[in-house]
Amino acid sequence: MPTKATSCGRRRSTHASYNPRYAGAFVYGRTRIRHRPDGGVSVVKVARADWQFVMPGMHQGYIDWERFEANQRRLTDNAGAFGGERLSGPAREGPALLQGRVLCGLCGERMGVRYSREHGSTIPTYICQESAVRRAGKTCQTVPGKIVDAAVVALLIEMMTPMTLAVTLEVQRELETRAHEANTARRQHVERLRYDAELARRRYMKVDPDNRLVADTLEAEWNDKLRRHAEAAEEYERRSKQQAATLSTEVRQRILGLAEQLPRIWNDSRVDFRERKRIVRLLIDDVTLIKAQKITAHVRLSGGATRTLELERPLPIAQLRKFKPELVATVDRLLDQHCDREIADILNRDGWRTWEGMPFNLKKIAFIRGAYKLASRYDRLRRRGMLTTREIAAKFGISETAVHEWGRQGLITKCFSDNLNRGLWALPVQQTILKGCGGRGGRPARLVPITAPSSEQGAV
Ligand SMILES: [Zn+2]
Repeated sequence: MPTKATSCGRRRSTHASYNPRYAGAFVYGRTRIRHRPDGGVSVVKVARADWQFVMPGMHQGYIDWERFEANQRRLTDNAGAFGGERLSGPAREGPALLQGRVLCGLCGERMGVRYSREHGSTIPTYICQESAVRRAGKTCQTVPGKIVDAAVVALLIEMMTPMTLAVTLEVQRELETRAHEANTARRQHVERLRYDAELARRRYMKVDPDNRLVADTLEAEWNDKLRRHAEAAEEYERRSKQQAATLSTEVRQRILGLAEQLPRIWNDSRVDFRERKRIVRLLIDDVTLIKAQKITAHVRLSGGATRTLELERPLPIAQLRKFKPELVATVDRLLDQHCDREIADILNRDGWRTWEGMPFNLKKIAFIRGAYKLASRYDRLRRRGMLTTREIAAKFGISETAVHEWGRQGLITKCFSDNLNRGLWALPVQQTILKGCGGRGGRPARLVPITAPSSEQGAV
């Protein structure tokens, strides 16, 4: 299977970069056995400087020793981008605010940060590549850091007014107190069950062993009490662990203090990104990102509150730059009167060309509309109160065929929203339409002014 082969190849090459044996060296002491308290053993990697023997050039290697050393240096450098240490390490270099706090909503892994240079500034991108690194899979997803960071900061500043925060923390404290009380009750329950079990044990010990029937009953009872105690103790253990993640008074004070200053601190250009990251780390537990039609960011704040942000995905900058502002403004203006196809024709007639020197077409105009969020011709017509054929039919209680007939008669005007004859109807201004009637002595529909209603109107 091709995938398997790739996976093996990848693993071996990673292995080769780490294992000096592939560089022809003899090495001893790369790992150490540690005995765990539970009687098991675990293998611990030893830092390179602490290997006991390193003898390069002992046999023919796949790569030479210099190359191996260079690889090691590069791996150490890269560790900053996706090493294990980023999980809990201090704020790292680079302006990505949420570094080390971002989870991938698609696969649940932690997301790293990749930086790129764009027009002289550093652009962060959150990237999920755990499966790419470990299992030779594809990069799971990438999310533009600037957009997420800005939205999260806006959220923090909005939420961290001292008042809302004080309320939040008070509620949190209340919940913690209740949880603490419940915890005490559970502990007492466990204690009682332990005491019951102890009593049962004593009763069993005292019984005359010859009296088999009583002894059996007491033993069963003792076993039952022991089991109930064990279950309660386990439950207590589990619940207390869940509860352990509460805020200490000190953290509470720091958060409150920060809230008062946050907007000021944040807008102060002297505060560098390390400081900003520290602030974010204090306030945010983690952010889970999902990139689909939009970017969804689930933000978990310290203390357990959560917020969900829906963010627009940006267009690649290269695409946006392809259209001049004057052109976009012209398209915007033309959209008031024309559909996409007509706009393309007008632009071509006036000598506009795309960045590639090509004439415009319907698709290009639609793209510009989407990219610059210009309302479509249809939406603009709707906003002016124009109606669909079906709506006109319902409004006047006539058939859709009759609507088109009215159109032919000039009672209503069709405005085309595209070149496929689709459009909306404009009703006459200051006038309404009087329905006609068929048969002998029938009369056609006609316009009547709204301000002076005809006496005939009631007869219709
Ligand atoms: Zn992922």
